[in-house]
Amino acid sequence: MSENGPDIQGNETEALRIVPDVGERVHDGVLREFTDPGGSLYRAESPRAAIDRFVAQRGGDLKTGGVDLREVDSAEGIGTLRVRYRQFHNDLPVIGATLQAVASLRTASVVKVSNGADQDLTGAPAPDLARPLDDLRDTVLAPFGADFDSVEILDSQLAYLRDAGRPTLPEADYPTASVALLSYGTAPDGAVHLVHDVKVQTGGPFEVFRVVVDAVSGTVLFVELLGKYVTANLQAFMPDPVSESDDGTLSGGSSAATLDAFRHAVQAEVDAAANGTFRLRGDWFNCNDWDSPTFAQPAEASANFNYQTFPADRRFLSANAYFWLDGFARYLRTFNNSTLNANMVRVDVDAQGFSGADNSQWQGAVTPPRIRFGEGGAPDASDVGVIVHEYVHGVFDFLGSEHGGSGSYEHSFCDAVPAIYRDRFNVNQHRRTETFPFDNYADSLVMPNSA
Ligand SMILES: [Zn+2]
Repeated sequence: MSENGPDIQGNETEALRIVPDVGERVHDGVLREFTDPGGSLYRAESPRAAIDRFVAQRGGDLKTGGVDLREVDSAEGIGTLRVRYRQFHNDLPVIGATLQAVASLRTASVVKVSNGADQDLTGAPAPDLARPLDDLRDTVLAPFGADFDSVEILDSQLAYLRDAGRPTLPEADYPTASVALLSYGTAPDGAVHLVHDVKVQTGGPFEVFRVVVDAVSGTVLFVELLGKYVTANLQAFMPDPVSESDDGTLSGGSSAATLDAFRHAVQAEVDAAANGTFRLRGDWFNCNDWDSPTFAQPAEASANFNYQTFPADRRFLSANAYFWLDGFARYLRTFNNSTLNANMVRVDVDAQGFSGADNSQWQGAVTPPRIRFGEGGAPDASDVGVIVHEYVHGVFDFLGSEHGGSGSYEHSFCDAVPAIYRDRFNVNQHRRTETFPFDNYADSLVMPNSA
């Protein structure tokens, strides 16, 4: 019996097998995850060669021998090369079946491989069994009939799908999508289906959905909302300049020209535009200028929040805080703790607050709860350790297990949890045991908790 629960794919999660500093997750005899942050095992003369070498040497463990994997993109970020392969079957894409490999540019070695390939597509229907989408048009559009003034098909692709799960349902109706609509379809049966993966646009109200219909039987498998969230592009530290570089001279006094090199392109989810304006506001956080000093929060005509670092552009602090908070909150929700998930609410965040003091604070006694980050020393919203620290105070509140804030052991959890969380983003593995590598001023770490 596994001691671990199912992961988000519904698979039983098995513990990482740890060779010193190297982790591997094997499931049903297939190597699914490989992590080697130090890049000690698979090195070559170039990052690309290291990935090729890994795939060649570990292909047997990845069980990629009979699998049609095709490279779909490669992207060089600051410090890494990421190569993504998509699986095909009968020349059709297999939805969700990708293999991704990341190599460090600095060490020309593999640091992470995620293997989502599907090793057993026997029983997949032949492509010529697919009914034309035109024949299934009424079936695809049927779920939308009563709720919308108009509905049309935007585009579609024929593909294979392992029918293993369903999109998460909201707890209540969205203005543009009812829970009933998003519940439309069948229960997943685990089989490989030949499907039309269809994008549908509605009018009155406007919305965009995905409808996945079995191309052989003509049955709608599920409806997914595509339009509720917007994927925003941001620039953020990853995880912070000192952890990335191991350069302890970097500080809040460094120039934007110096710190800009430590920005990385990242993504987060924000709400759709209101009156044409995107803000750093989503399900769990709202960047809102509630505390002094007065500072206008980011507002953009497109969902791009790319700023120079402070002191040149203090909006960077909002983007950095939002990115880390949103990702952390969404990560916590995957643990499926029913108390936490039921009690989490959206939090107002002021990344330029506390009248410029070198302090930050969780405020759980107001509705909505609030976080403020001071800009003294290194601005607290520039260090993921401080950012997540304050939110963990909120997690204690949401769990109903608040222990007196900064005067209690709760405060220690609030230090330890972000250190652990940061580690998974700390590709170079510097300063792993430090609590706030960037905001490391001896006189600065007073973070009162009002709750
Ligand atoms: Zn604290």
